[in-house]
Amino acid sequence: MQILHPFVGSIQQYSEAISDPGRYRPDHCPQCQAKQPLTGHGFYCRTLVDLGFDGVIRVRRYLCLLCKRTVSLLPEFALPWLRFSLTVISLFLVAHFLRGLTLAAAALAASQRAMPYQRGQFWIRRFRRQAEHLCAALAGLAAPPTATTFAIRALHMLESIGWIAAHRFLFAHLRMHLLGWPAFLAPDGRVAALRPAAPPA
Ligand SMILES: [Zn+2]
Repeated sequence: MQILHPFVGSIQQYSEAISDPGRYRPDHCPQCQAKQPLTGHGFYCRTLVDLGFDGVIRVRRYLCLLCKRTVSLLPEFALPWLRFSLTVISLFLVAHFLRGLTLAAAALAASQRAMPYQRGQFWIRRFRRQAEHLCAALAGLAAPPTATTFAIRALHMLESIGWIAAHRFLFAHLRMHLLGWPAFLAPDGRVAALRPAAPPA
């Protein structure tokens, strides 16, 4: 399972910080609640596009010796299953929905000059689909403003809470993805729940 790793700093600083397995080692297992520190279990690599960065980052993984399951520490500037950082996507969505910019201009506002417009459409579609759920989920953190659409209402709430803080809250407490889980991981980001039961022998 993935848990979020609160990290403030540059991607370079992140890469250095996670080199030491002891530094952010969880002191218990979030899956079986075993009260013993997890064992370092290497890394996996994922791509990330952020402002001024387009490359591969390592994500630290730990193993619980009791339940034999792994836990990975996804840095909270990244969204699970999306290559683009929370900052890039938030800048794009705010520029498009709140400032009324075109797809191309919104991409530019997010420092993605050469971005294909389909990518922006994909984010917009996913955000629209998720907006009503976001308004409900974030109601305890920010008063829902009056706005004509759920998307605009959700964006105002995200802006006032802070995108990272909202992402942290949604993910840690509700297992909710800011842009919605892809269908095969719905509703809570875990594949296991969707596996059909084995047929009777
Ligand atoms: Zn465990």
